[in-house]
Amino acid sequence: MLRWIAACALAAPCWLALQAAQETKPDAGAAPANPRETVDRIVSTALRSPQAFASLERLVAAAPLRLSGSPGLQAALEWGRAEMERAGLANVRLEPCEVPHWERGDVEELALLDSGGEVLERFAVSALGGSVATPPEGLEAEVIEVRDRSELETLGERARGKLIFFNQPMDPTARDTFEAYGRAVWQRSVGALEAARRGGVGAIVRSMTTRLDDFPHTGAMRYEEGVAQLPAVALSTVGAARLSERLARGAPVRLRLRLECRTLSDAPSANVVGELVGRELPDEILVVGAHIDAWDVGVGAHDDGAGCAQAIEAARLIAACGLRPRRTIRVVLFTNEENGLAGARAYRDAHADELERHVLALESDRGGFVPRGFTTDANPTALSVLRTLAEPLASIGADNVKPGGGGADIGVLAPSGVPLVGLLPDSQRYFDVHHCARDTLEQVSPRELELGAAAMAALLWQVSERSEPLPRNRPSEGSR
Ligand SMILES: [Zn+2]
Repeated sequence: MLRWIAACALAAPCWLALQAAQETKPDAGAAPANPRETVDRIVSTALRSPQAFASLERLVAAAPLRLSGSPGLQAALEWGRAEMERAGLANVRLEPCEVPHWERGDVEELALLDSGGEVLERFAVSALGGSVATPPEGLEAEVIEVRDRSELETLGERARGKLIFFNQPMDPTARDTFEAYGRAVWQRSVGALEAARRGGVGAIVRSMTTRLDDFPHTGAMRYEEGVAQLPAVALSTVGAARLSERLARGAPVRLRLRLECRTLSDAPSANVVGELVGRELPDEILVVGAHIDAWDVGVGAHDDGAGCAQAIEAARLIAACGLRPRRTIRVVLFTNEENGLAGARAYRDAHADELERHVLALESDRGGFVPRGFTTDANPTALSVLRTLAEPLASIGADNVKPGGGGADIGVLAPSGVPLVGLLPDSQRYFDVHHCARDTLEQVSPRELELGAAAMAALLWQVSERSEPLPRNRPSEGSR
């Protein structure tokens, strides 16, 4: 059973107006005959009176740093509750769970040393999330570079006692930057693990970005039981180029790595949940979500403050258009996506008995850039339905529905057969800001952010109105 910490709130004027209208008109809130008209109304309402960016501004002001276990994340949960109440959602509550608690500490140093041990230069680095610390005085070792997996495989004994420098760039020719990310991110995820297996002493990982700049991009990494835990850092792409150049001269290169990070015991946290209760089928649920935690560099404006603001805004827009969905639209701000997915699993477990009645899960976690459409793991029948529903979004260029994942948080619902959908914004600039100090409010366009929310609202509304739910996936049936 859930512990409902907060009672519902029906505060927003638009919602009250909607309720009043309902009393006099039995079919109030139903879809007009032409879905195109409704979608146009949603988009116009979004552009006329946008709220997503103001909401995101309030998040960044109240909780600029939102790493799991931090006081900032607690403040963000309160922001989520307040924003849902402001948007007129019902049944607003925090659903508690425990999350990992890792801190990076104050010292992050990667220094190039001369033969006498003096520092020649320092590089911009950021500890990878979950990394162990080095000894307090730092770890000094020679460095060896690998540019891809095959070079890693041929290191042999040369890796022993060394810092391994993973320097495979994200492929700049990939049209979709997420594809390039997907092919390069193994270095960050398992670099330390692979270094340990070869007798290395630490991992230095080229930042996951398509840009050449001096911002290190952090992110999750993992260890495995029975394998030594090595410290690991992300190095900026400018730093990676300098280090690679130095190594190309042929002489041994010695570095000192110093990290203070630590893992504490798990901390209390929660998912934030609120609803537009369905007018006819309230037990059938459409989840719309994003993750409320963020890495502790930058302010997570795109990742995933944008998604949180959009998920709430999508629900608010539907109500602001005087519509009440046929099925329940449930906004969920998941905690701990970045380093654990504890919130996603807690949601799945707490709602296990109603997952059969989840007709859709939609996540926004690819930045608040101009929307192009959606990705989905839905089976071919549901995919073609979703394509038809997205057609009216052609007016804003957001009608491209293609196979792909829905999002990390809702991904845990896949085994239950829930069709998963992810908002698909333009991907070209996302890895400029992803997991680095550049992920700030200034990088978010209010208009683009709002259009994403409008696209989400349009899809949610239409799926909620269907006479039949979307065909569910069987476990092996998804298009991905
Ligand atoms: Zn994210």
